[in-house]
Amino acid sequence: MIRFNVPPYTGKEMDYIKQAVEAQKICGDGEFTKKCGEWIEKRTGTKKCLLTTSCTHATELAALLTDIKEGDEVIMPSYTFVSTADAFVLRGAKAVFVDIRPDTMNIDETKIEAAITERTRAIVPVHYAGVSCEMDTIMDIAKRHNLTVIEDAAQGILSTYKGKPLGVIGDFGCFSFHETKNYSMGEGGALLIQREKDIEEAEIIREKGTNRSRFFRGQIDKYTWVNFGSSYLPSDMNAAYLYAQLELADEIFEDRMNSWEHYRRELAPLAEKGEIELPVIPEGCSHNAHMFYIKAKDLEERTALLAFLKEKGILSVFHYIPLHSAPAGKKFGRFHGEDIYTTRESERLARLPMYYGLKSEQVEYICEQVKAFYGMG
Ligand SMILES: *Cc1c(COP(=O)(O)O)cnc(C)c1O
Repeated sequence: MIRFNVPPYTGKEMDYIKQAVEAQKICGDGEFTKKCGEWIEKRTGTKKCLLTTSCTHATELAALLTDIKEGDEVIMPSYTFVSTADAFVLRGAKAVFVDIRPDTMNIDETKIEAAITERTRAIVPVHYAGVSCEMDTIMDIAKRHNLTVIEDAAQGILSTYKGKPLGVIGDFGCFSFHETKNYSMGEGGALLIQREKDIEEAEIIREKGTNRSRFFRGQIDKYTWVNFGSSYLPSDMNAAYLYAQLELADEIFEDRMNSWEHYRRELAPLAEKGEIELPVIPEGCSHNAHMFYIKAKDLEERTALLAFLKEKGILSVFHYIPLHSAPAGKKFGRFHGEDIYTTRESERLARLPMYYGLKSEQVEYICEQVKAFYGMG
């Protein structure tokens, strides 16, 4: 059986976890948490990176820092993971869904402005498959309407838009280190902060509303409760797992990219025949091989394809039932404009196995089977 995902593991993780345990510092903000934060700051150029317990929590933190309140509206795609909406809905905001572009499956930047009302507070572009949204347009709209931009870059670590790393283009960027992502700590994430004024506030909210971070830096002699907050610090044991992968980030990147390119090469003839569609990487965007997907003709064909692959020992999956069609989406959100592509394209998309360590022979076999399904031997 070829699994759809295997959590990344490089070999050093256990050593590092042992080091964290032996240092008798397994709570938050230990050595490995610091190392991961610094690594991300160096690689992305973000002003500040705070490791969190998940990308969902990083987004919640961004919602708190944006002071999202009851009745506010937040613009996002409907084709995304529930966390994108949850973080804002939890604060009482309404999710305003905008259609996607069929080429990248990202929010259609040309439809955002029409969805803005006097209640709109933020735009949340989701960089699907680690391929950037059209950020120049989105940042321009945000600037003209005085909106905060929170990038859901859960899948976008080490991808770029016009040379800029994803996650540092908006006011906030959120990464995920869930086990299905390119780099993992089981459950975890990071908040990337671009506005100087948000940094201290973020540290306080992440630390249960206390100024403990300043205390640790020796800036004050005792710490106290200064604001509302929560606990968004991951254990240093989890950060130790992640750090082993960040050290080998480029190797993991190359390995995934080889599989991605291999898929594209092998499946190009099927796309040329018009049987399937392959991912599109717009000019100016570089991606991180987070995902390889193909698009079948329609839902029926995709269902048959996934069943066929399963029979051949290949676990291929689909995802994202559009949020506006889900019970909570109906309750907490509304779709602005017409759903031309969101539902239609989501029903056609199938994700092929993709993980660090996927073998070339496996990619070869998967492609053979996809071709066999379409009667191309
Ligand atoms: C994985 C993912 C998330 C959630 O990440 P967690 O770390 O599991 O909270 C949010 N948004 C998108 C687009 C994702 O792919």
